[in-house]
Amino acid sequence: MPTPDMLPTSRLESFRTLKVKHPRLEEVERFLLRAISGHRSYTLLDLYGAGGVGKSTVVEQIVRQLRDAETDPAVVPAVIVQASPEDVGSAARLDYYQHVLDQFQHHPAIRDRTKNLPLYINRGKKSNDPAEWLEVRNVVEYALRLFQVKVVFVDEGQHLLAPDPQCKPTAQLDWLKALANRTNMLHVLVGNFDLYEYCHLNGQTTRRMRDHHFPRYHLDNQKECEEFVGALQSLLENVPLTVDVPALLSHWRWFGEWSMGCVGVLGDWIVETVDALWSENKTVLTVDALTSSALQPDQRARLEMEARTGEHRVARAKVQSEQELQQLVDTHANERKSVQTVNPAANGGGRERKGNPVERAAVRDPVGNQAPSANTLRCIFSDVLDIDPGRFQDSGVARGECPECAALRQLQLRNGILRYPAHERRKTQTLQTERRWVQGETRWEIISGARRKE
Ligand SMILES: [Zn+2]
Repeated sequence: MPTPDMLPTSRLESFRTLKVKHPRLEEVERFLLRAISGHRSYTLLDLYGAGGVGKSTVVEQIVRQLRDAETDPAVVPAVIVQASPEDVGSAARLDYYQHVLDQFQHHPAIRDRTKNLPLYINRGKKSNDPAEWLEVRNVVEYALRLFQVKVVFVDEGQHLLAPDPQCKPTAQLDWLKALANRTNMLHVLVGNFDLYEYCHLNGQTTRRMRDHHFPRYHLDNQKECEEFVGALQSLLENVPLTVDVPALLSHWRWFGEWSMGCVGVLGDWIVETVDALWSENKTVLTVDALTSSALQPDQRARLEMEARTGEHRVARAKVQSEQELQQLVDTHANERKSVQTVNPAANGGGRERKGNPVERAAVRDPVGNQAPSANTLRCIFSDVLDIDPGRFQDSGVARGECPECAALRQLQLRNGILRYPAHERRKTQTLQTERRWVQGETRWEIISGARRKE
């Protein structure tokens, strides 16, 4: 934190390395600290999110905290491994091993064990000799135990999981899971939305794995706007130049949009602006200066697109897993009914409906506590909708028609993702006439009046 009596250059330096605390960062930090020190049933965790939300910052802070709190010099509580896109195939695993061992070269026992390890000393060596691979892996596991490492962070973890087309993410994940289980220490993969997908390709692997999202701030939500403004204010107050903080804060939405709600991006942007002003001997932080140091429109568009697509993919994958689970539960419940009865009286006047969930017998089975009852048949449609949040908000139309049962429900916009909520099937057949979103041939559209039936 810069103080007025510091030398100007050290004020600049301390601003460059300033990391502001903000609610999303603190939440992730608390979660990770609990996962590292508390009781848990998993050894692998993936922390994913958009670029520039602050993932690397939170990892650095945690590693520093753990090391500062450690009083025994023989203990190294946390290790960071940087995964790199250049490491293809088995090089990715080798790179992981070498990175871990590099961090313990200060210790004679590790120097001793690594000095004759062909895969450690001959960087770039390729080997198909299983004995050599086993040897290097054993030394890594020995080192992790010797220093009582609690957590290994793999930054840019998506590169470790998908090093090339021959190396399947699931195989990499199995390898890492086995390593984590043998050493019984937490491995945290930190990365983008691809990481989330790689971790969910195989149901087996996800059993001893958890994931955690590091979200950005979404400007469609008042609380998040306030939190974002808080982070912006802390940054501005620390700028080692003359700053009209209230005046700049009044442009908070501009800051939010141009940083895509990512505090890491925002911080880099302000630091670069201050650097530029400093080198020109200017003393006032202005909107003009900020504008000229901002990311280019095409860069912003790409980052915004990546973040939105990623958030959308994850939200959709989650809805899909929930539906699959519900279907399994329903199927299982239905298979256990020897007689399936349909009660037309309770079900819209006896009209035959294809694909309806089947009415249940009076006796419920134990898994059926979410099961539909006679009067409340759950509709099978509940999904993430491909409607741009901006388009949705500008439209002023909040309700949408369910493509399955024509129910009208308020669409839910949260964190930039629009969902059609879970609902009961519509029971009446009156025509809808109000202005509403409906699923068209290629996209969701607003119509008023009755929908043309094919
Ligand atoms: Zn419906």
